Amino acid sequence: MSESSSVSQRKSRHIAVSCDAVSPVVGSEPFWKSKSLEEMTREEWESLCDGCGKCCLHKLQDEDDADGTPGAIHNTNVACHLLDPGSCRCSNYERRFDFVPDCVQLFPQFISRHTWLPRSCAYRLIHEGKDLSWWHPLVSGDPNSVHEAGVSVRGRVVSERRAGPLEHHIVDWPDL
Ligand code: SF4
Ligand code: SF4
Repeated sequence: MSESSSVSQRKSRHIAVSCDAVSPVVGSEPFWKSKSLEEMTREEWESLCDGCGKCCLHKLQDEDDADGTPGAIHNTNVACHLLDPGSCRCSNYERRFDFVPDCVQLFPQFISRHTWLPRSCAYRLIHEGKDLSWWHPLVSGDPNSVHEAGVSVRGRVVSERRAGPLEHHIVDWPDL
């Protein structure tokens, strides 16, 4: 691996409403199949987050190549200090920018720019024209299914306040 910068990336999570708050079916198809990201209501957009917590992990990015090619991104198991490792949710979602100014907020029109989003991220899946997995709370009807399926960060992360150097925490999880 070439030298990594110390730049980390985070993004905001979008699970401020429970999946019970949104009727998943519009007409004959659920909204994530019948609407584009841009067409979703705020509640639908928020409910699309599966609550995995993977976007709240630090990432390291190699320096850009001489020809301007962006450096590779390396995932770590180091979590933002506001991430609750049990629920995998932000512990201060409404005021997160007061404490974590570099938390990145997602917008429908910019999803394609966020190549660091995990492969399992619902926003990325819908943007790529794919369907949600069985464990997504909107599909299963159970917010815990994302944890029971082993695709959330529950039980496998360390807080940035205790982790030490990020370079010691690079991981190669297949679901990142
Ligand atoms: S502040 Fe931290 S825990 Fe909260 S959404 Fe942003 S990256 Fe995730
Ligand atoms: S990676 Fe995507 S689905 Fe998972 S918590 Fe982040 S925004 Fe939500």
